[in-house]
Amino acid sequence: MRIVIDCGALVLYDRIEHNRRVLIEDGVIRAIAAHMDAPADATVIDARAHIVLPGFIDIHAHGAMGADTMDATPEALQTMARFFAAHGVTGFLPTTMTAQREKIEAAIENVRQAMISPSAPDTAHILGAHVEGPFINPKQCGAQPIEFMRTADPREYSPWFERGVVKLITIAPEVDGAIHLIEDARRFGVAVAVGHTDATYAQAQAAFAAGANQATHTFNAMRGLHHREPGALGAVMANDAVYAQLICDNVHVHPAAMNVLYKCKGADRVAVITDAMEATGLGDGAFALGAQRVLVQGGIARLENGALAGSTLTMDAAFRNIIAATGCSPAEASRMCSASPARAVGLDYRKGRIAPGYDADIAILDATLRVVKTIVGGQYAEKTG
Ligand SMILES: [Zn+2]
Repeated sequence: MRIVIDCGALVLYDRIEHNRRVLIEDGVIRAIAAHMDAPADATVIDARAHIVLPGFIDIHAHGAMGADTMDATPEALQTMARFFAAHGVTGFLPTTMTAQREKIEAAIENVRQAMISPSAPDTAHILGAHVEGPFINPKQCGAQPIEFMRTADPREYSPWFERGVVKLITIAPEVDGAIHLIEDARRFGVAVAVGHTDATYAQAQAAFAAGANQATHTFNAMRGLHHREPGALGAVMANDAVYAQLICDNVHVHPAAMNVLYKCKGADRVAVITDAMEATGLGDGAFALGAQRVLVQGGIARLENGALAGSTLTMDAAFRNIIAATGCSPAEASRMCSASPARAVGLDYRKGRIAPGYDADIAILDATLRVVKTIVGGQYAEKTG
């Protein structure tokens, strides 16, 4: 199956080129050129009035449309994958919550099954699992249930890593066993994020020295930057190698703080995420977050105690928000929404760029940066209404 996209504007890694054609063959990008005859059997997509960029990659997404990763059902992941694709996402990591061991295990196994099952053309690809908790600090719980937080035991987490689908785990470095977990995770090729943590600057630096490479939802649920104790946030900002996940909904983080992070880390180290929960896409109302009740008002999800409970953000809105907050170019925003998150979890050898040899994962936006079409692995669904 061959596709040619006629691009008005084409976002390459560090620049935008105009009037280019992209050739896709068998799900892979084969060529990019100013002049190229479309093969006779190719489908031509007219995007001459549009901006064509790498599909968004969300490495931190719990749920959408009433479905949650912790449901541990194929239907839940499909619902999420379909909703995310409609918002320009071509790949994501279904993200688990702090819970009983068996529940986390069931969710990881469900992700594994989904990855080896055929996927519908209008769904984003599942790229692996993100395990958020349970080895985190109750002092920085956010919306994660405190009663299931515990110390890191290899007898518990090793079987998770052995399934081969965990791409990322969020831990608090100060929890017993966490540094050992980081070393084990690296042996399995699992990236480690520091998050839900009260770590001091020194404790966070020790985690990064042991192999952790990123921070989960930077600013949220971590010790802030104090000038005499720079905390986990100070360590994230000062360490050039560290990626910073960022919820760009203008609620979890003030746009000015988003800009501060961008100025500090640059587009190659900020990874835009949604942290979307199951109410995403459903409007305001009352929802469940595991055993907890969540109220969504004006798109803001809170527990009954007032704590923010994940977001209802979509990646296309996040893309617009990061541009508005920082004044960055669409090419830089694209890096923060695709290439940087892909690199943060070791998938950048075939994801996150429009370049020959890369997977044909592409989002097409109109001039107001709304999604027109999403192409996942060279497949796309015509919008029906
Ligand atoms: Zn979280």
